[in-house]
Amino acid sequence: MQHFFESMVDLITQTATNLPPDVRAAMKRATQVEAAGTRASQALAIIADNIDQASSCEGPICQDTGMPTFEVHVPIGANQIVMRKQIREAVAEATRRGKLRSNSVDSITGENSGDNLGPGTPIIHFDQWERDDIEVKLILKGGGCENTNAQYSLPTDLAHLGRADRSLDGVRKCILHAVWAAQGKGCGPGAIGVCIGGDRTSGYLGAKEQLFRTLDDTNPDPRLAALETNIMSTVNALGVGAMGFGGATTLIGCKVGALNRLPASFFVSIAYDCWAFRRLGVILDANTGAITRWLYRDPATAPIQMVEGPGGGFIKTGREVVLQAPISEETIRSLRVGDIVLISGRAYTGRDAVHHHLMSHEPPVDLRGGVLYHCGPVVSKKGETWTVTAAGPTTSIREEPYQGEVLRRYGVRAVIGKGGMGPKTLEALKETGAVYLNAIGGAAQFYARCIERVDGVSLMEFGTPEAMWHLQLRDFPAIVTMDAHGHSLHKDIETESGAQLAQLKTPVPA
Ligand code: SF4
Repeated sequence: MQHFFESMVDLITQTATNLPPDVRAAMKRATQVEAAGTRASQALAIIADNIDQASSCEGPICQDTGMPTFEVHVPIGANQIVMRKQIREAVAEATRRGKLRSNSVDSITGENSGDNLGPGTPIIHFDQWERDDIEVKLILKGGGCENTNAQYSLPTDLAHLGRADRSLDGVRKCILHAVWAAQGKGCGPGAIGVCIGGDRTSGYLGAKEQLFRTLDDTNPDPRLAALETNIMSTVNALGVGAMGFGGATTLIGCKVGALNRLPASFFVSIAYDCWAFRRLGVILDANTGAITRWLYRDPATAPIQMVEGPGGGFIKTGREVVLQAPISEETIRSLRVGDIVLISGRAYTGRDAVHHHLMSHEPPVDLRGGVLYHCGPVVSKKGETWTVTAAGPTTSIREEPYQGEVLRRYGVRAVIGKGGMGPKTLEALKETGAVYLNAIGGAAQFYARCIERVDGVSLMEFGTPEAMWHLQLRDFPAIVTMDAHGHSLHKDIETESGAQLAQLKTPVPA
């Protein structure tokens, strides 16, 4: 097994940086069907650029490289103890190389282990099989989409859909409800794995396992195949669209499995994955650990290019509003929902730990007129110089309990994030003359290229994703989705798609 460790490093690297062909094909279709010039088409253009950039520079597709989850099949007699140890070492090595962000946090102290190792990290499941080779599959599923997972206990009543019974039609309603509720928070267009039945634990596991199926396969159970087809043929009428901006593609895949359940329980568990749907696998020689074959991809075939020729990808139209930080209140109040802005100048990152800190401490920098970016970047250091290698936005709604107070106390003028924020923040934006700017979730390579340099860092004791990075931006594009006049695109799309949800009345057979 002398090659097992390097095979695992290779698997992790490819999974984090190179989207599999079925996901690329689905995202390309999404790009092609979106009407030109819409918010969703702009978002998809940035996503397309990002996918190509990540594979060409072997950088993380998204800065949140997720919870590494390995599914391993081994021949009878294979040494699982050695394999587990080497998988863990490979995870730490991939983190050192900047392919994974340090993502493993002590749940009691908040301390980041720095190497993606810790209790429960990574997740490794072993199964024996009657074959001579080893199969290792890996999925990297980030926190934003993980937070939009859902579990329903049937029967139940669902907003806009009414009663969901213990039937396949009840399951259909749960799936539609979960996709609607995710809005832009899970970085759609998304793909979902669904498990009908099991208990609460095995249900969620079964749902995640469905994500190992390719988007274009057919469910061997005709009843579940009919359910998947029903969902895929109706769900896009919701109009949630890319990043919840409204648009033609809300979901790129729906995969459903079933487990037996207790008579008293009927759970429907849903694992939502974002467009940065990172899963790959390898077949290994059981004697050497060398890769004999890749799953989901053929390395001899060039990856599907998401952007073809000039005119593809994100192109400036000249109608963008240029913002130079620090920004005046007057400029901010002139912005309206739907405006596309290009931000240059100083921005500070701040996410969960920083927002909590600011409730009881003064900020380490002057935030007046400033730009606060909800982002936990991937960074590397050479000598004394920090470089950001991946820097997309994180889900903003987590900061809803703090954001209004931060705006009022410290004079921040623009908050960049993704997925939108709630009524408390909307009220504070109006009161203080500030704006919420939605960047494109997961576009970590694209946005890293909009960061000219790192000027410093504060609060490093929170670990690199949670520290406050001082970034110099240049032409960083984002869309105004909550303005200083009380308007929220997120609220509007949620209401409109809720009305659409009520119209999706195509039942599946009982
Ligand atoms: S694309 Fe969005 S949801 Fe997916 S891992 Fe990245 S930030 Fe999280």
